[in-house]
Amino acid sequence: MFVSVGVFAQEQKQPERKPGHQNINKFKELYDEFATPNMFRTGSGAPGPAYYQQQADYKMDLVIDDVNAKLSGFETITYTNNSPDQLKFLWVQLDQNMRAPDSKTPLIQSGKVSAIQRPSTFTNRYLKNPVERGFNIEQVTDVSGKPLSHMINGTMMRVELPNAMNKGDKFSFSVKWWYNINNHVTEGGRSGYEYFEKNDNKIYVMAQFYPRMAVYNDVEGWQNAQFFGRDEFALPFGNFEVNITVPADHILDGTGRLTNRKEVFTKAMMKRFEKAKKSYDEPVMIVTQEEAEAAEKKKTNKTKTWKLYAENVRDFGFATSRKFIWDMMAVKLETKDVMAVSLYPSEANPLWGDWSSKTVASTLISYSKMTFDYPYHKAISASAPMGMEYPMICYNFGRPNAEGVVTDRVKYGMMGVIIHEVGHNFFPMIVNSDERQWTWMDEGLNTFVQYVAQGDFGKLYPGALSEGHDVFPSRRGPAEKIVPYMGGNQDFIAPIMSKGLNTYQFGNNAYGKPATALNILRETVMGRELFDYAFKEYSRRWKFKHPTPEDFFRTMEDASAMDLDWFWRGWFYTTDYTDIGLKEVKKMYVSSQPNEAAKNRAKRRGQEVSDLPAYVYLVEEGSDEYNENMKNGTPLENSPTLKEYLMDNFTAEERKNIKKPKYFYNVTFEKPGGLVMPLIVEYTYDDGTKEKITYPAQIWRLNDKEVSRAIASDKEIVSIVVDPDLETADIDTTNNSWPKQVKQSKFDQFKSKN
Ligand SMILES: [Zn+2]
Repeated sequence: MFVSVGVFAQEQKQPERKPGHQNINKFKELYDEFATPNMFRTGSGAPGPAYYQQQADYKMDLVIDDVNAKLSGFETITYTNNSPDQLKFLWVQLDQNMRAPDSKTPLIQSGKVSAIQRPSTFTNRYLKNPVERGFNIEQVTDVSGKPLSHMINGTMMRVELPNAMNKGDKFSFSVKWWYNINNHVTEGGRSGYEYFEKNDNKIYVMAQFYPRMAVYNDVEGWQNAQFFGRDEFALPFGNFEVNITVPADHILDGTGRLTNRKEVFTKAMMKRFEKAKKSYDEPVMIVTQEEAEAAEKKKTNKTKTWKLYAENVRDFGFATSRKFIWDMMAVKLETKDVMAVSLYPSEANPLWGDWSSKTVASTLISYSKMTFDYPYHKAISASAPMGMEYPMICYNFGRPNAEGVVTDRVKYGMMGVIIHEVGHNFFPMIVNSDERQWTWMDEGLNTFVQYVAQGDFGKLYPGALSEGHDVFPSRRGPAEKIVPYMGGNQDFIAPIMSKGLNTYQFGNNAYGKPATALNILRETVMGRELFDYAFKEYSRRWKFKHPTPEDFFRTMEDASAMDLDWFWRGWFYTTDYTDIGLKEVKKMYVSSQPNEAAKNRAKRRGQEVSDLPAYVYLVEEGSDEYNENMKNGTPLENSPTLKEYLMDNFTAEERKNIKKPKYFYNVTFEKPGGLVMPLIVEYTYDDGTKEKITYPAQIWRLNDKEVSRAIASDKEIVSIVVDPDLETADIDTTNNSWPKQVKQSKFDQFKSKN
């Protein structure tokens, strides 16, 4: 934190004081909004000496009943209390209860009968009987099998501890559960199965499928806010030992290392896997399309158990199907090699075989460069008609149409979602923010790095771009793309620092705007060198920890020596937008005659103009005094007082070297928009040269509405443009130019024709 400039009203009229008047200075430090730094989290934005986090380790035995689409599990959670607090109960998340018959989710939706609806939406809303969904919790016991008292409140379960847990205590308990898996295509959801009528097959992409520990920490206590389906998850780190029993002809992959590879792989698969570990340029098929197509035609009654072990992950996901084609390739990061992995059905080809694993590889390289080397050993992209992320595995949309045609929209959509979801490994799977509370901390940061990674992807694999494209077409990140949202109806915009559940235009609010803000911060406010260092520092400080918004804001300042409170305040805490323009430009000349200002000064002092001390007089072009005295203009030397001053104070040699500006300008900029932003100005001179000057945002510190710059130049300015490269998300550029560039409206064009 840095000392702020005070609040002065030099250039401003004294504001009218009203009862309850609030200081709305845009440069006021964020002390009121920020939590006070403490032993857990320091003022620098780093974890403090007393920082702690809880640990939840899981052992799970899972069985998928493919015929009935039912998942059963027996899990043992070992919870470690690292907090200094005594705990009398634990909170466990039961996300599947969002679909239970008594779920509150449908009841918080409001709206009228809409006049036009898709048949699927209409059917889901009005025709279908609710299917039996939600967790069936069969028992909650301690490790000796003794039942534990527990209570379920919606998507949260409180488990009473037989003895209170003190700092350092461990407690193990078991939950036996099952539920009917949802069809995520027809019923929606972030996990579930997709049904393929041809050969009667399913692809399961599983997540939020097990009772999961809630986060307990120094900022929230228990994060036990209900899951309504929108705001994502807050999860502690832990180790997972998971055995998953599925039909023997299924191919399965998920979070963690496969510990019984020899039992579930054929000899051919083993050989291909060894080859893939050394293949850096092209993926190697572990299960080919022919093999997958053969498997989906006949089904077995036998089962197979896949064993996965994961260390230091905050969640667990897996995908399984007999339809899966499986490929893998090696990825070289700065300090290590990792694997890029893809799982997809034949319906995803052509496209997935060509690009999924390469997109994963490129993403890991880009994100590692911006943060830290990807710490896990693999990243999987599984094909499903959605986009959702878990540690080491994510589910991504984008397949050819029924005729096998891949449009640009489908291709870039698929690559974009893979980059995004693989990127989530970093935010929030490793830099483990609280998604339930702060959507922007994972989606915004991730969408920002996604934008950077998409740029890299086009460079690493130019073949991925369609003809005529030399960069990846990014939807979110570039400043001008956020203009329609930020310049839109204020009734439907909320500050970024709002819980996602409670905001309009979720995508723009939690993804687009924060990503754009960070891009602008990097390119326009801080510059890449300062930004990238600070962003990396934040990532490293909070890798495998739980950061809060202040930890991010503070670290970005701590590592860069930039006071950015004004930026966070404007972009994250308000719904203000950028609109900066040119108000007026006045040209001034040095005059040989005393001007109006001189006459006024003499009058105030009760003197004659001739009694005044020596002054240099400047008059405005076109004014009465200019027309009287300056018909042909007067060169600098023609001010007798200036000439005398120069003669008295400079040697002949020094006089030769002084600047001799011919033109003087008063340039007045206006700021109708609420956001404070750097003032970027491009001056074009009469000899055709241009000069771009960025005045830091602090130029607005004493007057939020308008500021002037006095400019002395030996060349005449012929035009001035504010924000010439459209980098500030200015919502109205009609006031950005001098001389004003008149844009004729459609109506005016029509009028002038008639
Ligand atoms: Zn996301």
